[in-house]
Amino acid sequence: MPSDCIFCGQRPIDRNKEHVIPLWLIELTGDPNRQLNLPYFASIRGDSLSDSFAFKSLVFPACKKCNSGFSHLEDEVKVIVLKMLRFEEVDGVSINTFLDWLDKVRVGLWLGTLNLIGNPTGIVPKFHIAKRIAAKDRMVVIHRCEEGPTGLQVFGAALPMFWHRPVCFGLMINHLAFMNASIDFLISRRLGFPFPTKMILNPDGSGEAQMRGGMERYILPLIRAPYEPSGTEIFQPMFNHSLSPGGRDSFGRLYETEYVKRHSISYSDGIGKIMLQKERSISFYEGGSIKWVPQKKHKFEEVLRFVPIQTLLLQNYLADAECMTNSKDRRFFSCLKNQNRKLIEYTRRAEISPWQSH
Ligand SMILES: [Zn+2]
Repeated sequence: MPSDCIFCGQRPIDRNKEHVIPLWLIELTGDPNRQLNLPYFASIRGDSLSDSFAFKSLVFPACKKCNSGFSHLEDEVKVIVLKMLRFEEVDGVSINTFLDWLDKVRVGLWLGTLNLIGNPTGIVPKFHIAKRIAAKDRMVVIHRCEEGPTGLQVFGAALPMFWHRPVCFGLMINHLAFMNASIDFLISRRLGFPFPTKMILNPDGSGEAQMRGGMERYILPLIRAPYEPSGTEIFQPMFNHSLSPGGRDSFGRLYETEYVKRHSISYSDGIGKIMLQKERSISFYEGGSIKWVPQKKHKFEEVLRFVPIQTLLLQNYLADAECMTNSKDRRFFSCLKNQNRKLIEYTRRAEISPWQSH
């Protein structure tokens, strides 16, 4: 695996390197030569390798062509993140781009982490970055904390639940925290979109869904996961499903409705509109606005505690949301959920000092 291109999964053509955490972001959040401490890793590897890596050393192979294709996304997102850090107006198109980038970072961290720790459980990745960008319903909850030191933190990626299901993670950039998740049909039923009545996930990661037409009304909240409501909640339906062998074609008819079209940025590409959920109401996020800015400012240490906890809770919730038909899988995932619960307890009690990653 380590020699495969992180974007396309093939043997890299004109091999070069991709920074999983982009250099611009490392520089924006502190000294580019600082260390990233990953204490959990060495104990899992069971060896004496250093727990500290230079942030900059998190690089993975990529094709030159793939890498330059995605560098465009990095350029666009850098501008958006800079605006966000200044709490400026951002439009719906930018949020769509930002969510694409969170998909990229999440999958990149997954492949990168497996590579770094030597893939202890022998996971064979069925997809790489290119396949998972803008592929599935997605969400981000944004929290804000008081001014303080700058820094960068990743939540929920250094654990087995994430290695087996890289669908949810947290990212803190200076004074903003982002909790991101993306899975098939995350919000479809409650958003009034076509939804699965039955889903079968095979042990090899492939799956099939039996679908029915949407109810064309909202059931709020869009997901019932327990999370701190003081953040800005953003959702986006995506409906070019990879879950069914025939993709959207096999149940495309169900999507041919005015309701779905009204909720789409690009109906032909299966890209839904950006939706803002606020106090049990939903609105389209269109045009430039500061509606994305969280209203509540938390204490620094508070955010560093509750965002990781909520990320782990959301991971557990999402593990339940996708039904495992195989009882061996169910047992396995309940084991992973228990590990998450232990880590939640540990985080609740832990002493939090700002920016442990320094
Ligand atoms: Zn490639």
